[in-house]
Amino acid sequence: MGPIKSDASNLTSSACTRKTFTIELMSLAVENHPQTRSQLAHLTAQLDTFRQAGTFFRLRELEDIQGPVCTYDGRKVINLASNNYLGLCNHPKLEEAAIQAIKDHGVGSGAVRTIAGTMRIHMELEEKIAAFKNVEACVVFQSGFSANAGTVSSILGKEDFILSDELNHASIIDGARLSKAKIKVFRHKDVAHCEEILQEIANEPGKKLIITDGVFSMDGDIGPVGELAALAEKYGGIMMVDDAHASGVLGRNGRGSVDHFDVHGKVDVQVGTLSKAIGALGGYVCGSRDLIDYLYHRARPFLFSTSHPPSVAATCIAAFDILENEPDRIQRLWDNTAYFKQQLAHSGFNIGGVNTPASETPITPIIIGEGRKTMDFSKALFEAGLMATGIAFPTVQEGKARIRTIMTSEHTRAQIDQSLEILTTTAKTLSIL
Ligand SMILES: *Cc1c(COP(=O)(O)O)cnc(C)c1O
Repeated sequence: MGPIKSDASNLTSSACTRKTFTIELMSLAVENHPQTRSQLAHLTAQLDTFRQAGTFFRLRELEDIQGPVCTYDGRKVINLASNNYLGLCNHPKLEEAAIQAIKDHGVGSGAVRTIAGTMRIHMELEEKIAAFKNVEACVVFQSGFSANAGTVSSILGKEDFILSDELNHASIIDGARLSKAKIKVFRHKDVAHCEEILQEIANEPGKKLIITDGVFSMDGDIGPVGELAALAEKYGGIMMVDDAHASGVLGRNGRGSVDHFDVHGKVDVQVGTLSKAIGALGGYVCGSRDLIDYLYHRARPFLFSTSHPPSVAATCIAAFDILENEPDRIQRLWDNTAYFKQQLAHSGFNIGGVNTPASETPITPIIIGEGRKTMDFSKALFEAGLMATGIAFPTVQEGKARIRTIMTSEHTRAQIDQSLEILTTTAKTLSIL
């Protein structure tokens, strides 16, 4: 056992954290626990700037299940922060399917898909999704993030162009950077701006990929998928949509934005997630047989990262059954959403629409502006019994910090009313209303 360094001053300037650190030192006194060394001092300095800005956070711990009411950090709260739109995270049929799959096939797949890790159940899930989405084929990735990043990066080369909405998800941005293609960003939902760029590059030899989120995750507005698909057709571009927040939410039985806009066959690449409304984990790409076969050969997260445990695939198959057979869940989701939005606006909250896109989906931001004030509001809401996460820069633009709320089909009217009561009372205490 080596000596324990007592100087924690290079760890942080915050007295409170230093105290925590001392306690950790005591509990770990039997071992020489590695400390933050000077090599990583720049990270400590960065963390201090987050603390000064009031945006430093600790992770809240969920102690029971992801439900409309649940327990975080020992406190029972109404939950307006999860993506569990349809309550599938703990649906008994999904749980049963997962348990059965573990009994039948074990807990892990043991390899990447292309080597030895493709189980029959992985193929069944892909076939199920392809049929549901009315496309030729589907490939499932370990997450929506890897589906986007792996696809965008692999289908283009450095001569090509990516036309991307300025508010597209980080996984699209990372995929675009990895692709080495030239990235052109158009103003949010600005189809005319996208067309201007297409005209500017009309004589360039490269391929053009237009890409938008189906539903934007921070504002809850819907991407102009139909109009962008028409542009792609006019200019011979490839059309791609990321339906992470539209999967299970928009379109018939939650088939997504392509179904919502009825542009079947006009979107070449449809990405969806299995991690949000579907209740489990994963991402998928839907399209032509050749697109999917190509991704089997070239998408790096598919080639170099192990496939889902069979239980995850089984869970997702059961979830698509629910989407097909229990459409009332989606109806309840939208009814709750309409009621909550109407009441929020009625109370005088800024829920977007002025200098910020207006939400059209179960994601409703409450725009506060300043990061610190937003985080203080979120903390006060939590103390009052409401879990509603504050989101600040760099996740959203500076000055547009917000509380992001997400409604689910499982919230009761009484829970929604109580949420509204907590929101208004707390906002008045903090002079937000
Ligand atoms: C959540 C999200 C993703 C990532 O999906 P995961 O399955 O959680 O990795 C991708 N795109 C958008 C727009 C998202 O909101």
